[in-house]
Amino acid sequence: MRTQIVAGNWKMNKNFAEAEELIGAIASEMEDKQLKCEVVLCPPALYLEMASDYADESDFFVGAQNVSEHDEGAYTGEVSAAMLNSVDVDFCIVGHSERRKYFHEDNYMLANKVNRLLDHEIITIYCCGEVLEEREKNIHFDIVEQQIKESLFHLSEDEFSNIVLAYEPVWAIGTGVTATPAQAQEMHAFIRKVIKNKYGEEAAESTTILYGGSCNAANAKELFSQADVDGGLIGGASLKAEDFLTIANSF
Ligand code: PEP
Repeated sequence: MRTQIVAGNWKMNKNFAEAEELIGAIASEMEDKQLKCEVVLCPPALYLEMASDYADESDFFVGAQNVSEHDEGAYTGEVSAAMLNSVDVDFCIVGHSERRKYFHEDNYMLANKVNRLLDHEIITIYCCGEVLEEREKNIHFDIVEQQIKESLFHLSEDEFSNIVLAYEPVWAIGTGVTATPAQAQEMHAFIRKVIKNKYGEEAAESTTILYGGSCNAANAKELFSQADVDGGLIGGASLKAEDFLTIANSF
């Protein structure tokens, strides 16, 4: 069976005290729950070390929201994969649509980020997904395939086993408009086929593919019940412990 994951992308929210309160609440509420998935918290970079300290005593993993494409050096403001590794970060989101849009990250730059994470044994959560106009033009499958090929298909099969995919239709992120379970399943099955064509059946069947985009406590169960949906990457609904844990309990 594939690893099921629910990951919370906090984006640029919470001050230090609020972050500690939320991490503490999630850690303590997780104690009474027998979750069927791995839980990953992705707070802003400033709070990663604190999150790792809590994770040492709890049952969740820590993820970063971004990493530099460079190893080290004169890149003011950047955080390297080695730095993430040094505070025990387990996962890192790469290719979120907000980074593609506001920071002009393209598929080839994202491939470099994936390489840096592999060098430091951090699992990549690679985001892909089309904007509304691309879906309306019926080119959403081509767009997603291209994103995956250009950022990931230079990897060996062994390296690819360190990748988690997250299908996040851009029109569903932060909008309250969720993909229907059928739309999510259709794209997830397509992504699995693209992986199969490159790396074979075993790799395709063992790759975790998350759905992201206005997933919440009310709709998670139906989305996660789809055959090829292995969990979620959660934005807004990850900022409240109760909602987030309801989602993590939706398998
Ligand atoms: C995200 O930012 O990855 C996301 C899925 O956001 P939201 O859940 O708020 O749509």
